[in-house]
Amino acid sequence: MPLYSNLSQMNFELSKEQRSFVDRVDAACTSIRQYEEKCYLEEKFNDRIVPVFGKIGMLGCPISKKYGGLGYDMLTYALAIERIGEEGSSLRTFFSAHTSIGQLVLQGWASEEQKKEYLPDTASGKSVMAFALTEPAAGSDPTSMAMKFEKKGDHFVLKGKKHWIGNGTFAGVMTTYAKDADSGRISAFIVDRDSPGLRTEEMKNKMGLLTVKNAEIYFDNCIVPRKKLLGKLGQGLNIAYSALIDGRLSVAAGAVGVMKDCLSECMAHAKSREQHGSPLAKKQLIQEHIARIAVGIESSRWLVYRAAMARQKLHEYVEGLKQEEREWQTRLDRNNKEYSTLRNKADNLAAIAKFHASNASFEAANRSVQIFGSFGYLKTARVARHFLDSRATIIYEGANEVLELKIASQVLGDSYRTY
Ligand SMILES: Cc1cc2nc3c(=O)[nH]c(=O)nc-3n(C[C@H](O)[C@H](O)[C@H](O)COP(=O)(O)OP(=O)(O)OC[C@H]3O[C@@H](n4cnc5c(N)ncnc54)[C@H](O)[C@@H]3O)c2cc1C
Repeated sequence: MPLYSNLSQMNFELSKEQRSFVDRVDAACTSIRQYEEKCYLEEKFNDRIVPVFGKIGMLGCPISKKYGGLGYDMLTYALAIERIGEEGSSLRTFFSAHTSIGQLVLQGWASEEQKKEYLPDTASGKSVMAFALTEPAAGSDPTSMAMKFEKKGDHFVLKGKKHWIGNGTFAGVMTTYAKDADSGRISAFIVDRDSPGLRTEEMKNKMGLLTVKNAEIYFDNCIVPRKKLLGKLGQGLNIAYSALIDGRLSVAAGAVGVMKDCLSECMAHAKSREQHGSPLAKKQLIQEHIARIAVGIESSRWLVYRAAMARQKLHEYVEGLKQEEREWQTRLDRNNKEYSTLRNKADNLAAIAKFHASNASFEAANRSVQIFGSFGYLKTARVARHFLDSRATIIYEGANEVLELKIASQVLGDSYRTY
């Protein structure tokens, strides 16, 4: 089975340049740590993300240099996201929405003209991106979406509502997905914030992820010029599903960071806090918690790195195609075996990594709160915020039940697909 072969090709050596980039991400994270914590308690967007991370190029880390990014590979990007995840899934979610399910969708599917229009501005931080797929009645099953579009002269008219859209309150540009009012086929669109008929409202009362802003987005006969169609008519679902490969990878990478932070917080606390005459770290039952968190980190990180490498191979294959092959045909062409093998592998490894790492990080955060006792039951504690935030990672970018079904159908074969 191709998914489990090629272990010999795993090589996680980073170049000096890549290592120094991850060091710059580390310094940026450290510099905003206190402010991020303050913003979390005040439930406000961290307005230092864009200037601080923009300065080191993190807002366009895996985007080609040709379009203003740093042009790093997916493993380097995953390592950067892992470091950001240590500061919390709230901060990491900003990057997942902006880059993983934002810019990378354009890098993979947009025309040359569209890439030039959007990627440099988003890589510099002049504009932030969002991905608007989910609707109140269409979550795990995007095929049931109600949002419609009609073709009218030189533009499309979009009607419908999306919800839970990360960065949606302020993103300058987003991709969204709607059904042809006639044929029912789903297409993808690039929508500018100032499009006539577009309105956003912040979603309130979230349980966690308090520095990232989610929006309800209303498309009230929203006018989208024809040239903002992403890919070809009818390719919307394929585009959305390919975005989710990157989204899952970023959630999984961030989850590794969450667990690392949990471990470091717990070690410091368990070694300094004494009860019954000795440090908590000397108690065997506390050591069980510590050991399980460590196992979560190691078991998740290798899944993430392997999935990142599979995703990179897919990227390199697509980049190596001739322009006319790239012009949307190859990706739908089931006869292109090489493409579909690479895509399936990247898709499945990302699903496995996300499923495992999100569950492991929630478990790690839960164990961490337990080690901290009452001190972990305050939102001012890092472990408490990890607990609240990592709960979301089991729901978004493909709820874990649906990912389990997806993984099972990959193993059993498509005829056993249950969703
Ligand atoms: C914090 C947060 C941020 C988000 N950000 C974005 C964003 O930026 N852009 C965006 O488009 N969306 C976003 N979402 C939406 C997210 O992708 C959806 O919440 C997710 O896909 C699940 O959909 P749902 O919430 O409608 O749950 P449902 O689809 O109603 O699922 C509810 C439960 O039923 C289970 N279930 C569903 N179908 C099956 C099945 N066939 N078999 C077994 N179990 C099943 C699910 O696993 C889940 O446990 C975000 C959500 C959250 C919570």
